[in-house]
Amino acid sequence: FYNPTTGIYTSPRPPISLPQSPSTSIVDFLFLNLPAHSDSPALIDPHPHNIITFSQLKQKITELAHALHHTFNISKNDVVLIFSPNSIFFPVAFFAVTSIGAIVTTANPLYTVNELSHQISDSKPKLIITVNQLYPKVNGFNLPVLDLNNYSDLINKSRHKPLLSPSVSQNDVAVILYSSGTTGLSKGVVLTHRSIIATALMVTSDQEFYGEGRSVFLIVVPLFHVMGLITFTYSQLQRGNAMVVMVGFELEKALDAIERYGVTHLYTAPPVVVALVKQPAVVSRYDTSSLIEIGSGAAPLGKDVMDECSKVFPQTKILQGYGMTETGGIISIENSRVGSRHSGSSGTLCPGMDSQIIHKETLKPLPPNQLGEIWVRAPNLMKEYFHNKEATEQTIDKQGWLHTGDLGYFDEGRIYVVDRLKELIKYKGYQVAPAELEGLLVSHPEIMDAAVIPYNDEEAGEIPMAYVVRKSGSSLTGVEVQDFIAKQVSPFKRIRKVAFIDIIPKSAAGKILRRELRQKIQSHLLFI
Ligand code: AMP
Repeated sequence: FYNPTTGIYTSPRPPISLPQSPSTSIVDFLFLNLPAHSDSPALIDPHPHNIITFSQLKQKITELAHALHHTFNISKNDVVLIFSPNSIFFPVAFFAVTSIGAIVTTANPLYTVNELSHQISDSKPKLIITVNQLYPKVNGFNLPVLDLNNYSDLINKSRHKPLLSPSVSQNDVAVILYSSGTTGLSKGVVLTHRSIIATALMVTSDQEFYGEGRSVFLIVVPLFHVMGLITFTYSQLQRGNAMVVMVGFELEKALDAIERYGVTHLYTAPPVVVALVKQPAVVSRYDTSSLIEIGSGAAPLGKDVMDECSKVFPQTKILQGYGMTETGGIISIENSRVGSRHSGSSGTLCPGMDSQIIHKETLKPLPPNQLGEIWVRAPNLMKEYFHNKEATEQTIDKQGWLHTGDLGYFDEGRIYVVDRLKELIKYKGYQVAPAELEGLLVSHPEIMDAAVIPYNDEEAGEIPMAYVVRKSGSSLTGVEVQDFIAKQVSPFKRIRKVAFIDIIPKSAAGKILRRELRQKIQSHLLFI
C-alpha cells in the first residue's frame, strides 16, 4: 500500500469502475438497479411515519422536475438553493434539480439572513426551495420560492406537459456545497456527477465486496452537508438501502427509530457518539440489537470514546471515516469486517484514493509513522472552488493533489488524522471559519485586532475562542464581545471563550500565527 519510490500510499481495496457511458447522471445511476428493489422503502420519515419506496421516489423526482422546469423555467446549469432542515423530501428535491442538469446548492437552515446572503450572492440561485418556517429568512431576496412540503398544485399543473430532458454528462456540475477550505471565507465546492458517483462507489466498496444485502441507515446528520447528502444518503440509496431521515439528533427519538425500523447502520458525527456513550441507561431501555455499525466522521473521534461506545453497544462495530467537502465527502473508512478495531484511526484509503504525507518544510513525501500534511488524489475530488481560481490553485496542485490542510500519518495501512494545519474550526462537526468571525470582531468600534482559534471541548470537539486587542481606553468585556458576535451569526458559530491580549502574533507577511496562540492555551500562559 506504500511505494517508497514514489512516496504514494494506495488503497488496499479492489478498484471501482465508474459507469462507462459519459451521459450517466447521478439520478440515472441511482436507478440503475431499480427493478431489484422498486417496492422497498427508500426514504422513511419516523415522525410522522411516512415511507417513500424506490419507485415512488422515481415518480416524485420526475414530477418535481416537471414542476421546476415548467413553473420556474429551471434548466441546465441553473442554480437552485435548497434551504431546509432534514426531511425525506430533501433528497427528492436534490435529485429533481440534478436530473435536469441544474445545480443544487445547500445552506444550513440555522443561517442568519446575512450568512445566507453571502452564499446567495456567490452562487446566484434562480430559485429557493425551502419550508414554510424559513420563509422570513428568504423573503428579502426577491427570488421565486418553492415550499418543499407543499407543491402538489404545481405538479398537477405541469404533469402532462412534456419535459425536454437535456442530456446530462458525468462531467456536468451537480452541486456547489460551501466550505471554507484551508483559509478565508466559505467558498463553493463544485462537485460533478462523476465525483458523486465515484464517492458512492468508494464508500460502499466493502458492502459490494462482501455482497451485503439491504440495510437500514439512520440519518441524523444534516443533509445540507456533504456527509449527510452524498457520503451517506446518495451512496446508500444507490445500493437500494433504506434511509430513516431525522430532523436532527434527539437521543430517545433516535433509539426509538432504531428499534422500530430495525436500523442496521448509524453513520454520524462525534457529538452523537459522545451522547450515546453518556447515557447507557437510556440506551438500554431500547432494543438496538439490529445495529451492526456505528460510524463517525466529520471530526476526530477519540479511541476512548470508541471503546466506551462498544461497551454500550457490545454487538455493534464502531468505526471511523475521514473526508471533506472538497473530496466529495470521503477519503478513508475503516473496514469493520476485518482486523482489529478501535485504533482511533480513520481506516484505510477508499478505492481509487491515493495519498501522500508531505513534510511541512521539505515538501518531501514521508514513509509510514511520520507526521505530515495529508495530500490526496482521486476521482471524487472537487472540480474547483466556484469562480475562485486562486483558491482552487492553492488547494489542488498541478499534479492533481489536493492539499487537505490536515496533519496525519499512516501506520501499516491505516490513516490517523491528528491535527489541523488549516484555519478551520469544527464545532460539533459544523464548519466555523475563523476569518469570518475575525472580520466581524474588527468591525466593532472598540476592537483593534482579533484572532479566532479552536479551543478543545469535550462535548463539541472544538469551540471558537477569540483573542481580542481592545482599543486604548476601552473596557469592553468578554461577555460584550460574545454578545456582539452572537447577534450576527448562527448559534454554532458563536464565540464561546474570549481572551484579551496586547498584540496578535503575526508573520512578516501579516498572517496570524495561530499555532502560537494555540500553544499559549496549552501552556496556560494566558490569564483567561
Ligand atoms: P468538511 O468539509 O466540513 O467535511 O470538513 C472536513 C474536515 O473535517 C477535514 O479536513 C478534517 O479536518 C475534519 N475531519 C473530517 N473527518 C475527520 C476525522 N475522521 N478525523 C479528524 N478530522 C476529520
